Amino acid sequence: MDFDAVVIGSGFGGSVAASQLAARKKKVLILERGTWWITPEKLGKPPPLAPGKQRMPDWLAANKQPVQYWPRPDNKDGLLDVFASVRTGLHRDGLYKFSNFDDATTLTASAVGGGSMIYSNVTIQPDPGVLAQIGLNLGAAEFAAARQWMTDFRGPLNKVVTKIPLPGRDVSALTDDDYLYLDRARVLRDAAAALAPKLGVALPWAPLDLAVIEYDPDRGAASDAAKNHTFCERQGRCLLGCLPAARLTLNKSLFAHLLQDPASGVALWPRAEARQIRKTGGGYQVVFHDHRDGGGEQTVTAPQVFLAAGTLGTTELLLRSQAAGGLDLPDTTGQHFSANGDFGAFAVNTAQRVSSTRGPINTCEVSAVIDGTHLTVEDCAIPAMFASIAYTGLNVLDSLVKRRFFHARLRLAWLTHALPDLRDFLPHLPDTYDPNDARTEAEYVNNIFFFNVMGQDDAPGTFRLDGDDLRLDWQQPIINHPTFAKADQLCRHFAEAMGGDYVPLWDALPTRRLMITHPLGGCTVGPDRIRGAIDEYGRVYDPGGGHPTDTYAGLFVVDGSAIPGALAVNPTLTITAHALKAVGHALGPPAAAPAAATPTSTGG
Ligand SMILES: Cc1cc2nc3c(=O)[nH]c(=O)nc-3n(C[C@H](O)[C@H](O)[C@H](O)COP(=O)(O)OP(=O)(O)OC[C@H]3O[C@@H](n4cnc5c(N)ncnc54)[C@H](O)[C@@H]3O)c2cc1C
Ligand code: SF4
Repeated sequence: MDFDAVVIGSGFGGSVAASQLAARKKKVLILERGTWWITPEKLGKPPPLAPGKQRMPDWLAANKQPVQYWPRPDNKDGLLDVFASVRTGLHRDGLYKFSNFDDATTLTASAVGGGSMIYSNVTIQPDPGVLAQIGLNLGAAEFAAARQWMTDFRGPLNKVVTKIPLPGRDVSALTDDDYLYLDRARVLRDAAAALAPKLGVALPWAPLDLAVIEYDPDRGAASDAAKNHTFCERQGRCLLGCLPAARLTLNKSLFAHLLQDPASGVALWPRAEARQIRKTGGGYQVVFHDHRDGGGEQTVTAPQVFLAAGTLGTTELLLRSQAAGGLDLPDTTGQHFSANGDFGAFAVNTAQRVSSTRGPINTCEVSAVIDGTHLTVEDCAIPAMFASIAYTGLNVLDSLVKRRFFHARLRLAWLTHALPDLRDFLPHLPDTYDPNDARTEAEYVNNIFFFNVMGQDDAPGTFRLDGDDLRLDWQQPIINHPTFAKADQLCRHFAEAMGGDYVPLWDALPTRRLMITHPLGGCTVGPDRIRGAIDEYGRVYDPGGGHPTDTYAGLFVVDGSAIPGALAVNPTLTITAHALKAVGHALGPPAAAPAAATPTSTGG
């Protein structure tokens, strides 16, 4: 066998698997279809290097790794760079992967570090009742381990909910100086407080835990800010790349903890796209396209394979392996896909300024239970490079003629992957008597609040392969699921409480559809192969076995595809908890340390 283990994908599940395998001194290969992405900006005063360590850009160059750079300008030039970063069949190195299905589009990442590269850093635990409903057996101990892994492998989590860092303060309950809150955090808190008695439901507000470095002089040289010489500058563009490098993305962790140390036993091959897994005697053969080398087909073998290619990637890989005869899989493979109840909406023309370009993408949350359905409402930044488009688009949506014209243009842009030409909508003649003329990007969206909501659907999607393409079928049109009606209604109430006009995101899209940023399921945990594709330890059920709980030896699913239903919160902490549980079980208890010599009794 070439390696002790092959890990497919380098996002959350893949990084957990690699870190745990490395801790047991295993020889590990990570196959990752994407390239590296790093900030093109240099820190004004980089921290000193520890002896024997290298800076990531130098290591990447020395090891001839494919590297791309985040867009920089917060204007239309940056926007063009973002469009150029979309992954398509013709542009395999793109970072943002949009997958269009009936009634829904998913957004996922293709890069070293997986979803951590484009995510908004939120680290949050689901309600135990929600976990019980979907049959996911993860409890307090597993979530504590996941938080610990986040801290150890990445860095301490922080609440970044104020305009400036407030070292040593509990930012969950500012009172007299609550003007220091980021405006949208305060406006969401106040709207929740006003709405709760009106709706007769509890709407607790809280700052989110973010995987972001915050300025922290109390911990002095031991603080992450001091160690890295950076902290969150509230630039409001986390998912488009953090120029001050203040986000705890997994590419940095993989580099710092595993890859730069030749003794770690971990290798990562970027631009290596797994295509199929075949069962062999004693293990597995992974077939992959090596795009470092013209896309030629290569194989590697290992007794253990950890599938961490994400919800879509892992499901597709397993379905393809089955279609090609490499693996016999349970009929449940591909089933129980959940949109995590993802729903977006806007309040336009809010009474208070919400300053949507400032601060991390998400800063705080309100949790609600509406007629038994758990919902989480988060604020969401509008990055400055999208500000004029968002402003223009949202302000024309109340005119039918303009709305149709706007949708036609957006649809064209969607089909051609081109920047929509919105010049007709943009302000043009300069007028220095008009206070609204020549506004900054920030001012365009000062009074537009963006809601990011997660709820509980019934995981009603089923993936199948159509030739080589992944398709998604819904039991019922997903848009009609009651969780979205509840999210829609709740956001409408919030918009009213903020004194704004309500526009759901699906009315701003070219066609009415869900935008899913937290796809879950497809290879889900279940008690046997009739009700799931894997067991609670991520082991893939083997239909060839005599018993419905028989599993393949050495084949594990450790990513979002394992999660058997909606979590009603952002999912990475749960994915991390599942992956740690699965890999921990696969590796068994750590070997006992050599017994210390028993002290010899001296008698007397
Ligand atoms: C805009 C946005 C914001 C988000 N914000 C948050 C947030 O704040 N908090 C949160 O908890 N979640 C957030 N999410 C969701 C989160 O990013 C995902 O749930 C998470 O990354 C999934 O982890 P994973 O391990 O399942 O897979 P991923 O992190 O998606 O990793 C899968 C990896 O596998 C690679 N891959 C795929 N197929 C192959 C193949 N065939 N061969 C080799 N490699 C392959 C991919 O390139 C990728 O690197 C957000 C998502 C988006 C899109
Ligand atoms: S808000 Fe800006 S500085 Fe802070 S983590 Fe996000 S991109 Fe980085």
